[in-house]
Amino acid sequence: MNEKGRGSMLEVSKMKGIGPKTLTLLNKINIYTIDDLVSHYPFRYDLLKRSDLKTVQENDKVILDGKIESIPILLRFKGGLNKLNFRLVTPSGVVGVSIFNRAFLKSNLTIGTNVIVIGKYDRAKNIITASDIKFGTLSNEAKIEPVYHCTSGLTNKNLANYINGAIMLYGKEIKDYIPKKYLDKYGFSNKRTALSIVHNPPTMEKLKEASIRLKYEELFAFMFKINYLKEQNHKEKLGIKRSIDMTKLESFIKKLPFELTDDQKKATKEIIDDLNSKNRMNRLLQGDVGSGKTIVSVLAMYANYLSGYQSALMAPTEILATQHYNTIRELLRGTPIEVGLLTGSMTKRDKQEIYDELANGTMQIVIGTHALIQEDVHYQNLGLVITDEQHRFGVNQRANLKNKGVKPDVLYMSATPIPRTYALTIYGDMDVSIIKEMPKGRKPVKTYVKTNDEMKEILEMMYEELKQKHQIYVIAPLIEESENSDLTTVNELRDKMNLAFGSKYKIDIVHGKMASGAKDLIMAEFLQNKVNILISTTVIEVGVDVPNASMIVIFDANRFGLSTLHQLRGRVGRGETESKCILISSQDTDRLKIMEKTNDGFLISEEDFKLRGHGDLFGTKQSGDMAFKIANVRQDYKILVQARDDSYEYLLDTSFDNEELKQSLMESINDN
Ligand code: ADP
Ligand code: MG
Repeated sequence: MNEKGRGSMLEVSKMKGIGPKTLTLLNKINIYTIDDLVSHYPFRYDLLKRSDLKTVQENDKVILDGKIESIPILLRFKGGLNKLNFRLVTPSGVVGVSIFNRAFLKSNLTIGTNVIVIGKYDRAKNIITASDIKFGTLSNEAKIEPVYHCTSGLTNKNLANYINGAIMLYGKEIKDYIPKKYLDKYGFSNKRTALSIVHNPPTMEKLKEASIRLKYEELFAFMFKINYLKEQNHKEKLGIKRSIDMTKLESFIKKLPFELTDDQKKATKEIIDDLNSKNRMNRLLQGDVGSGKTIVSVLAMYANYLSGYQSALMAPTEILATQHYNTIRELLRGTPIEVGLLTGSMTKRDKQEIYDELANGTMQIVIGTHALIQEDVHYQNLGLVITDEQHRFGVNQRANLKNKGVKPDVLYMSATPIPRTYALTIYGDMDVSIIKEMPKGRKPVKTYVKTNDEMKEILEMMYEELKQKHQIYVIAPLIEESENSDLTTVNELRDKMNLAFGSKYKIDIVHGKMASGAKDLIMAEFLQNKVNILISTTVIEVGVDVPNASMIVIFDANRFGLSTLHQLRGRVGRGETESKCILISSQDTDRLKIMEKTNDGFLISEEDFKLRGHGDLFGTKQSGDMAFKIANVRQDYKILVQARDDSYEYLLDTSFDNEELKQSLMESINDN
């Protein structure tokens, strides 16, 4: 987590009662400041209202309190599972309680202890299979209990205490980003009250009211920033006067190894028009994986070169930057353009060389990672900045990028198709070009939804690919085993794959916790076909291009949003042969079957949006843009639109002289 830009906020360590040990635990769940703490919102609420066993329906969730009547009996099973059974005297009768994996509580669950259990009631057996147990009794009124994301060593109760402590001690100092005008207009409560309610809801109505207020605030701050960028863009004239030699560009296009698709031509034209116009370009180029955005970016850079300026292309990872560098150098072979690569892991000396060439203008195109927007990089005449896989860069970084050099034109590329309505808001500061059409001859990836019971068949399908000397990606949601999850892990799959194929084929793993050097090394080996099966978490999601990989097998596919699955699937189908994607899951297969039916990323993103909201559109929540803590763009779309309009009004209205609030709104979004 990036702590920059948080200087103005109070560190959580300043709070009484939070020592170094607690601090470490809080940091683990990304809580660094008092602001982080009070906005660590519950991810769920439990309605603690005593059930009446006489009226509950089969499979209803029941909540009951009572006194333990029998010493819990502990049963242990294979694989470390355990179960406690005891009898409970409740206001609506005596019931049996079964609860898994709480062996550690056995000595605390003595006869006469008051406990609350939450679970499912089996009427025939008169047993509650509890998913949760707490000490205490229920009050007669319904109680709404917040449930937080915790971490081992930090319980729900600890967290609730710290949060409430912070609201009491600092509630008045916590910044409210809603201008007074809108607080009044909507009759919103003050921030402190809203926070207090969300963390201790007295009633569902009050909770809803307070949530709306906090969501509005979050979206207001976000949209203010987007609107601000949009205004800036409209006002700004480009300091650059261009003349692009179109004949040279045309002849370059003619010499390409393929003909551009109509969409590529259209996008290229839109970009060239932007470059020629006196307004600064601020364009998003959207296109599904494999739709051929790279060549469009090359044409933009070539045109920029023809008009006498330097270009920088920024990718989110070193792997991608290096790959782009190789492809682009190849495409520009035969032109006098010098192309360079700049990444964080390069030696100081190598970097310096690039810095020098950029400063004196001998290098016209540079490809790299974030290193490109670091302080030390000075360009002689930067005219165009392109970022690939745009969603990985937050709004602040967008702003930062543009502050480099002489107000260059900016092109963002994204392979994450997002619904139009949504694009209009979060990318509301940009113009958009879309490539929908795939290059000719592209064979759609065949997708199969399979259950775990069909493993034999799956392994056989994999073997078929391997025999043809094709490579395979295998994806798992987790790296290593964790206590409270039975999800498939990368480590477990390595053993499994080794058992099945290890004698003949080389198997390796990459995941996000590996050092980037080690990761790059294995990716390079996979690219050179020295590794046959690559097991990975979703780190390979973005952009990597290994045409010989013809199959991707995704375990626990139900854990992923459709857009993520689509991104993952886009890793294959990049070569000559027909590729396959196997989604393994025994649950949620209706949703997954959408993947069998279509290869259209836009359609899939619409479906995903309907089903899950924005959260997963970006795969992980890495993007600064998407780090909403309480708002959900799909569910809260109306609030978003309201916040967009209000924040725009506020931005333009000079009669609001609250410069300080405007300033802090600008700083309100953290980039992760
Ligand atoms: P993405 O949009 O995912 O970045 P790429 O730019 O990497 O896609 O293109 C995917 C592949 O398609 C590349 O191998 C590229 O050379 C090829 N390609 C791009 N445009 C065309 C085209 N018009 N005709 C044929 N192949 C193309
Ligand atoms: Mg790409």
